[in-house]
Amino acid sequence: MNLSFFGATREVTGSCYLLESNGQKVVIDCGMFQGSNFNEGKNHDAFAFDPKEVQSVLVTHAHLDHIGRIPKLIKDGFRGQIFMTKATKDFARLIWDDAYVIMKENNKKHGTPILFSEPDIAEVHSLCVGLDYSEWIDVAPGVKAIWKEAGHIFGSAFIEIEAEDKRVCFSGDIGNEEVPILQDTDSLGKDIDVLLCESTYGDRLHEQVDMRRELILGLIQYSVENKGTIMIPSFSLERTQELLYELNILSEYDKSLPKMPIFLDSPLAIRATAVYEKYPEYYDDDASRLHYFGDDFLKFSGLKATLTKEESKKINNAPRPKMIIAGAGMMNGGRILHHAFRYLSDPASTLLIVGYQADGTLGRRLYEGATKVKIFGEDVEVKCKVKAIGALSAHGDQKKLIKWCGSGKTTPKKIYCTHGEPHAATELAHRLRDAFGVKAAVPEMGETVEI
Ligand SMILES: [Zn+2]
Repeated sequence: MNLSFFGATREVTGSCYLLESNGQKVVIDCGMFQGSNFNEGKNHDAFAFDPKEVQSVLVTHAHLDHIGRIPKLIKDGFRGQIFMTKATKDFARLIWDDAYVIMKENNKKHGTPILFSEPDIAEVHSLCVGLDYSEWIDVAPGVKAIWKEAGHIFGSAFIEIEAEDKRVCFSGDIGNEEVPILQDTDSLGKDIDVLLCESTYGDRLHEQVDMRRELILGLIQYSVENKGTIMIPSFSLERTQELLYELNILSEYDKSLPKMPIFLDSPLAIRATAVYEKYPEYYDDDASRLHYFGDDFLKFSGLKATLTKEESKKINNAPRPKMIIAGAGMMNGGRILHHAFRYLSDPASTLLIVGYQADGTLGRRLYEGATKVKIFGEDVEVKCKVKAIGALSAHGDQKKLIKWCGSGKTTPKKIYCTHGEPHAATELAHRLRDAFGVKAAVPEMGETVEI
């Protein structure tokens, strides 16, 4: 059996792996590379394998950097089944549609080519199969797989694959500790021969996750005192709903949320929130309890969802203090840019970074302390407070990743650290060798290994 790495090697985006067993080809994740521009050049490169020969695609979760190139697989000839959890199937359609709209806008403005067409999206969706967690499924002759809770976003999974009496596990993205709404990350299965483990935060520890709510409240109080605007560039799946969950608790149970309008200014996030309501069986105990007692825990007084452009524009006139949650999460597009353009130069305002910011994005430059940035071709001085809360990250830190790698009844024989920048991936590999005495390596783009 051969395993090839075609993305997310020594970088965080573009996840794509190929497993070949007895002539069967199975692709695990096929995401977009997301760097300086939304639709990076290398997304257009031909695949290193022939999509026509691929039997099936297995998807860990619905983030664009894991599913963004699947419609391109279709465009290039793939016609097999695409397996994922049921919630991931619902999200995937939203994500592809949203990506298409952004690519079309970019095409109009900058002439950048569009990666796939609307018919490609319709076709890809017709090939998707929604699965339950924890059931073995035949995904190709002689190849079976199981999806287990990754605790990263709603519907996210790590996937264990069995073929030729060997087991390979693909982590997808592994969630943080004690994530609101989501169930905890499942333990690894036993007898894993090869584990691919993400390493986004392989060299970092998050601050206390139980401080999450207090940290948010502190920032809100600061903005209320200073009559500022809090801008939160937020991934439409999960980060946004977790924030709403925490704000709901602060508002309806702790009664500590100051009165201020909170705008959910992301059509994608508004639509994604409906998917959460469809699958209460994925909730953790706390969320299940709230749901059981009839609390619509993603809604609370003061929250306004702005679906249309006209509603979004009206946010400008809302008196401060106010909070705006808008996409894109890394500020490489979306409505957050309009708000950043307006409020980054306001010393009373705050930019709250709650997710990973990939190299080359506007979010990353702000996170690293840029004092002047370009938005819509114009210079904008950064005078607002820029704050990052690691505890709100969707990814587990180094401690969580090591714990998860060791969570099976037996330790994996070999671990490849993927989905991390070079330092993070290398550091995690070192730590895993120290902790378990396993072989741990950081693969190269295009590398093929025999299992
Ligand atoms: Zn992810």
